[in-house]
Amino acid sequence: MSDLETASRSLIATHQWTRLQAGLTRILPHNRFYQEKFSAVGVNQPLTLEQLEDLSHFPFTTKRELVADQEAHPLFGRNLTYPVSNYIRLHQTSGTTGRPLKLLDTQESWDWWADCWATVYRAAGVSRDDIVFLAFGFGPFIGFWSAYEGAKRLGALTVPGGGMDSVQRLRALQEIGATVLVCTPSYALHLAEVAQEHGIDMRESSVRVTIHAGEPGASIPATRERIERAWNARTYDHAGMTEMGAYGFSCSQQQGIHVNEEEFIAEILNPQTGQPVADGQTGELVLTNLGRWGSPAIRYRTGDLVRHSGYSCSCGRTFLALTGGVLGRVDDMLIVRGVNVYPSALADVLHRFPEVSEYRVIVTQAGPMDEIALQVECPAERIAHIQEELHIAFNLRIPVEVVEQGSLPRFELKAKRVDDRRDASGVAHKAK
Ligand SMILES: [Zn+2]
Repeated sequence: MSDLETASRSLIATHQWTRLQAGLTRILPHNRFYQEKFSAVGVNQPLTLEQLEDLSHFPFTTKRELVADQEAHPLFGRNLTYPVSNYIRLHQTSGTTGRPLKLLDTQESWDWWADCWATVYRAAGVSRDDIVFLAFGFGPFIGFWSAYEGAKRLGALTVPGGGMDSVQRLRALQEIGATVLVCTPSYALHLAEVAQEHGIDMRESSVRVTIHAGEPGASIPATRERIERAWNARTYDHAGMTEMGAYGFSCSQQQGIHVNEEEFIAEILNPQTGQPVADGQTGELVLTNLGRWGSPAIRYRTGDLVRHSGYSCSCGRTFLALTGGVLGRVDDMLIVRGVNVYPSALADVLHRFPEVSEYRVIVTQAGPMDEIALQVECPAERIAHIQEELHIAFNLRIPVEVVEQGSLPRFELKAKRVDDRRDASGVAHKAK
């Protein structure tokens, strides 16, 4: 690990401050998006910031703003520090929550992405001696391209698993003796399921580490254990986003993620008030990246809900810890009869049952409240036990219906296990 990962908090803050100042000096003369935002609050050249805490005077950046800016200034918007000819990579968001956002990277910022991903691999004990297999259809989504570049940066043999179905991927993994599997947590479970159907035992494979991103899972204890059992490997989490970078990684303790504070400044804020939450509390993660100067994100509201878990960890790192990783999206929280229910918490209960191969959460509306019911693929005789465990976890009676094995959708990318059937004119918190 780098020296900064175990440094004192004051040294980390000094590093972040130095990087942020250097970055702003590059951004502000040319980047019209941030020029406009900052001049509105009186932050102009020369910089009026004197310490890291002054960052809290900066306005937030939201996805909605970036999307609106691209719509008003096609194709790439105004959040560009350099002429378009300086950029070498174009990726875009999935567009599941609206119009896709296009993001450009310069060679410098693409190298920065690779460095951030190399940190993810190193923290999971991956080295240049490993063979990394990326089980993913390589499209315009940035996640696995950056994972690919990061493995290359590490010096590991890197294998793209695009253009293959699940069986072909399983055979390729076996044939080349891959030691590291990178994919979404749902897809790791799906691959194991397909392997079983084809009489292939992945516990016997050479895969020793799995790294997951794209959705909560590898930091949900029951889900992680399920993946580890299916692959006979150690499972690590990673968090990142197209607009921001690869910001989080799991350490040897596998309790969640650390924010890579060498490359990002993290704030955890109450999403309603915008005030910082105390240690142990949950809030929205707000990030500033410190190396993607060509298309920066300053005080970006990630929409990721996380728990502030302090700065000490048995691994020795002093980087901010987020126990449980990304707990969910701020706007994914359901309120069922007064109880806050996160989809990740439901996964933690359901994945304790090896017989549950897939599930779906049906959300309906009962007055101002959400109501949920579950559909699960599992033997009928287990339902009572599942309901009992759900009752213990949430103190709620949640209806559980058995559905036919294989009838629910499987996912390669981000799983969509919440089927929201609420009336669009109803509760305002589902503005997607
Ligand atoms: Zn740690």
